[in-house]
Amino acid sequence: MGGAYCNRVNSMTNPSQEQTCPVCGVTIIDDVVQFSNGSKGTRARLYARVCQYAQKPECINQDKALIGEVLQEDGFMEAPPINFGQ
Ligand SMILES: [Zn+2]
Repeated sequence: MGGAYCNRVNSMTNPSQEQTCPVCGVTIIDDVVQFSNGSKGTRARLYARVCQYAQKPECINQDKALIGEVLQEDGFMEAPPINFGQ
């Protein structure tokens, strides 16, 4: 019997990150959004079309740092700044 087994610790490398938003139902693979209709887009586009309306903490696409700049062509008109009362 060959007793060789692989027990590598996943350190810094993370080759393929796949996330599914439980709110929006879309899959994000390596920052590429896979829409349910088969088309692909960016996090910004996903946010513009779906996540900005969801506005739930469970949504995985609410991080502005990851979303980046949302362009008008993504279907999003710039919203007025929101004051969170700080
Ligand atoms: Zn979402």
